[in-house]
Amino acid sequence: MNDDPSHCSVGFMWDPKLETFDFGARHPVRVGRFQMVHDFLLESGILDTSPIEIINPEPVSDELLRKAHSKDYIQKVTEISTTGKGDIDIDTPGFVGILENSLLASGTIISGIRAMHNRRIDHFYSPTGGFHHAFYDHGGGFCIFNDIAMAVILLKELGYERVLIADFDVHHGNGTQDYFYNDSAVMTISFHEDPEWMYPHDGFVEDIGSDSGRGYNVNMHFPMDAGDDVYRYAFDELVPPLVHFFKPDFILLLPSFDAHYRDPLAHLNLTFKTIHYVAEWFHEFSHRNCNGCLGVVSGGGYNPEVFKTGAKLIISLLSGLHMEIPDEEPPFRDDEEIWDITRENVKRVKDCVFPELSLDYD
Ligand SMILES: [Zn+2]
Ligand SMILES: [Zn+2]
Repeated sequence: MNDDPSHCSVGFMWDPKLETFDFGARHPVRVGRFQMVHDFLLESGILDTSPIEIINPEPVSDELLRKAHSKDYIQKVTEISTTGKGDIDIDTPGFVGILENSLLASGTIISGIRAMHNRRIDHFYSPTGGFHHAFYDHGGGFCIFNDIAMAVILLKELGYERVLIADFDVHHGNGTQDYFYNDSAVMTISFHEDPEWMYPHDGFVEDIGSDSGRGYNVNMHFPMDAGDDVYRYAFDELVPPLVHFFKPDFILLLPSFDAHYRDPLAHLNLTFKTIHYVAEWFHEFSHRNCNGCLGVVSGGGYNPEVFKTGAKLIISLLSGLHMEIPDEEPPFRDDEEIWDITRENVKRVKDCVFPELSLDYD
């Protein structure tokens, strides 16, 4: 057990074969994305420091894959992988070798969990993973297989009883929500941009889970241009009471790299200060309450500078190496309208979720 968050070992999940994908030269997820992060970390010297260990992921096993995805969908991906013909979805093109590449990419979280469980490392960070738009029987949104769902299945098999999926990617984790919608052993908290105009157009406040899972699926969304102040307000109002109530024994975190103000695919207005704030809260919580059981996968992040700097920030924070948080000036400040909408959404989340969990609130 490691109860000291200032000295943690971190596995950097890495294999050059993560680059064997091909969504096309103009796709937001382009070849070179993961190598860039690796090279940036290497040049910064952080990979040579003692708390950081490079861990080669294993591909996801056939057995685990079949627990998370339908036979027909696996067959479809296998055929696309062999022939190179056909697409996973309109925004997720097929290519020769897509099966092998996806199994390795999804394997980073699985191998990271195994390394943590075996006490080889305190945390892992993967430059890929967080394929939260993949469903049991179909993929989409740049996601082939849902690595988070597979991770939860594995964690349950390893004996973990309450898994928190802390999804701060700017897009709603629609696939992940679907897997665990009626499961009170898995709490999903997704902070994302307003689904009215943001892909995947799902993840409304009122979608709180069903049956015994009611109250365990939490969606908080923000209007366009929402920045650090309102985001942190919503975080402070919602996340601590929910997470202290749930008492997770393992936390999977997707940071907010694509909610950064420089991201080209989304319209939120966060800086690294907030990305750091969120990750730091979960890191501290994990050491105080669940033996430091926190693993991080990247999720989205489509500005290369933000993506690689974010990766370094997370690894530094997890290991206690302390990287200076970049000083940034976002283009907007949160105005009254943004504050009003955010306050209203926070209140709606509380009204929908907190009574289900018998949580007191103002
Ligand atoms: Zn730690
Ligand atoms: Zn995203």
